[in-house]
Amino acid sequence: MPGIPASTSLRTPCLRRRMRLVPLLGLFWLLAACGDETPDRDILALDGRTMGTTWSVRVAAPPADLREAELRNRIQGRLIRVNSLMSTWDPQSQLSRFNAAPVGEWFPADPELLHVVDASLRLHRLSDGAFDITLGPLVDLWGFGPGADVAPESLPDPEAVEAALATVGAEHVETRADPPALRRTAPVRLDLSAIAKGHGVDAMAEEIEALGGTDYLAEIGGELRARGLNGRGVPWQVGIEVPDPSRRGVAREALGLEASAVATSGDYRNFFTVDGVRYSHTIDPATGRPVSHDVASVTVLHESAMWADGWATALNVLGSERGLALAEEQELPILFILYRKEGLDERSSARFDAHRSRSAP
Ligand code: AMP
Ligand code: MG
Repeated sequence: MPGIPASTSLRTPCLRRRMRLVPLLGLFWLLAACGDETPDRDILALDGRTMGTTWSVRVAAPPADLREAELRNRIQGRLIRVNSLMSTWDPQSQLSRFNAAPVGEWFPADPELLHVVDASLRLHRLSDGAFDITLGPLVDLWGFGPGADVAPESLPDPEAVEAALATVGAEHVETRADPPALRRTAPVRLDLSAIAKGHGVDAMAEEIEALGGTDYLAEIGGELRARGLNGRGVPWQVGIEVPDPSRRGVAREALGLEASAVATSGDYRNFFTVDGVRYSHTIDPATGRPVSHDVASVTVLHESAMWADGWATALNVLGSERGLALAEEQELPILFILYRKEGLDERSSARFDAHRSRSAP
């Protein structure tokens, strides 16, 4: 495994053998550390479903007055609210109603929705347009939209791609803080799929902290955020999955997380193949086509799960050359896992390497 420090590869066989893994999309967290599956401290464990996937929360050494039912109600209530604001699968969500509202008019919007749209528009600029929340028509055209259960057998016509490209562009979206509102200046529609899960994780973390939890790990469908220490009193351990659909839940590397979030974007779980070519669910706005480079996955650490999620998608679009250069410029800890003829290779930013050496056992 080129580039993987010896200390980490030493840990990997142990991870596979001894740990109970919770496999997710690209990342999974490790319930206990090697050789000790019995936590030393109490753990409060909650799980549920949201956004078409699962959520889970672990609180280590929970405060004495923290009641499980109250935490569950608060988390579930908050996730229902996030969905009612941001889901494109719910025609009654605030975002769906905005997408159906007249073009050119300010649409009153909740500050929580604006927070995610503002971050998305900022990321659009920072990534030179690679991250774009108006790509819904192209996502649908390539068979990855709501309701698309079956992978397409043939590819869309180039004319259809051109026509869909003409209907997208995040530069046609504006936000206003006071009074809070959203506006589109052309008939684009918004899709927050690449960033809303991360925001949901941040929202769960807020609820846990509001009830006094200081040591926790919160997760939705593979986007995670951790704070404090785990059940054994050491930083929460997160496994970066081998990017291969036939080897789900196998850890390539473990990372210790203290006060940060981590997200992974990649094509190895959500893709289809036509004539031997892989088509990823990540669309390059420059071409209107699924990204077609050598990225198997990209993992991003950030203090905010929303930003980790958004950046992971953006860097996946940019590919390893441009993505790594931008990550260095933005001082982001990131890891690309790349397909090579001879197997998998990887490239990481200086900040990621620093995190790795800090969190090595
Ligand atoms: P993620 O798994 O977070 O990388 O998000 C992937 C999802 O984001 C896709 O299924 C699409 O709905 C949407 N998407 C695809 N390409 C882009 C892009 N370039 N910018 C923003 N969202 C995208
Ligand atoms: Mg994302």
